[in-house]
Amino acid sequence: MSFVHMPEKDFFEVEKRSGDPFIAIIHNLMSRIEHLAKAEYDIESLSNIVNRDYGTQKYEQALFNYTEHLRKYNDALIINEDARTKDALDYLKAFFDQVRQAGFDETEQKLTACFDAEHHHLDQLSQHGQHNPKLEQLKYILDEEYRNNEETRTIMFVRTRALADALKNWIEETDTLKFLKPGVLIGRARKSNQTGSGMTLTSKKGVLESFKTSDQSKILIATSVADEGIDIPRCNLVLMYEYVGNVVKMVQVRGRGRAEGSMCFLISDRKERIEKERLNMLREKIVERAIANLQLSNKSMQAKIDTFQREDKRVRDHVNAIPERPRTDGNFELLCAKCKTSACFSNDLTVAMVSQHIVLDRTIFNRSIQRPHKDPRRIGPFEKKMKLYCKKCDIDWGIVSTYMNTVDLPVIKIERFVVQNCKTMKQTYFRKWKDVTFAMREFDVADLQSF
Ligand SMILES: [Zn+2]
Repeated sequence: MSFVHMPEKDFFEVEKRSGDPFIAIIHNLMSRIEHLAKAEYDIESLSNIVNRDYGTQKYEQALFNYTEHLRKYNDALIINEDARTKDALDYLKAFFDQVRQAGFDETEQKLTACFDAEHHHLDQLSQHGQHNPKLEQLKYILDEEYRNNEETRTIMFVRTRALADALKNWIEETDTLKFLKPGVLIGRARKSNQTGSGMTLTSKKGVLESFKTSDQSKILIATSVADEGIDIPRCNLVLMYEYVGNVVKMVQVRGRGRAEGSMCFLISDRKERIEKERLNMLREKIVERAIANLQLSNKSMQAKIDTFQREDKRVRDHVNAIPERPRTDGNFELLCAKCKTSACFSNDLTVAMVSQHIVLDRTIFNRSIQRPHKDPRRIGPFEKKMKLYCKKCDIDWGIVSTYMNTVDLPVIKIERFVVQNCKTMKQTYFRKWKDVTFAMREFDVADLQSF
């Protein structure tokens, strides 16, 4: 049973530009602005306090100017990372044009002068600097997809609004891509962001309408607007361009890309980001399989997911609340208490639901045998199904627990083992788990990837 069509998913890990002088210049400008701000607002410097205009609008305005400039440079760094250096510079130029036209006070003049000093150099870089390998990858994917299927409809998620605009410009200025006629869909403004007001609902609807009804616009570039419950039309290509969200969000993103044969690509130059998304997928897969096994209707399915997620969080919170006892680092070998056969190592032990001690080493199955459990039971997402016995001497080591109806995990009892320090070879016996002196990690679904 498949309750939602999940698009096929793939990952593209791309290279970063090597040694980007644009970044160095912007970093330099930012630290100069920070320096200027500190010089003016250093509370510890008495001489400065004397002529402060605290409690005035002038004070607030000046402070705002500093942070606003820093914010713009920061935005520009993000644009430069995911789009062209030219786009980042255009963004800054547009900002400084605006600054010059508005109340161009002393602070603004000082800050603008910082930028002007580097203007020429930045211009040179944007014209003759390196290409962004990420954009080349993106261009390759779009070229391929539209060559294979010219009916392709794409939604591309990006990190910021400025980036959505930058990528729109890039598509429009790229000969082989401009036929895509990109639309931009921008999410609600962050509260802290005082500039710009996001898109009105009417203009959002306008963009969506033209994407839905005309064959003109073939790609929609969006920020996290998809979380706002806006009904995004059918797309068969979902691109996550340096964009990662949480599990629920991901399901929604995928739900939105559920047209037949749809694909979802994550494009990133960050290993961690790709790893994180792989784990998200694994988590989803486990939840999905569990649900499929339960054969539930859509409504009770959602309730089950909610319950599981609440339960998962409750257990985590509970575990986190238990004060840590001092534990000895280092590895310990667990030997069968009766025949001294090696069973597993403490480094492979994790704790779930406070009481489930899971051995994340599949080879323990080679050293043990399983028989059906006489009293099968469920503890949260764990279901006791089998018992586990030492292969050599047949004493009871613990159980085999099926996690989320998906993976069989060995769960052991400490009183059936002798714990041997791998360095000193000293052996210790613990009657209860709460007595053990070695460290154990908390179980995480992600662990199943290597199990
Ligand atoms: Zn044994």
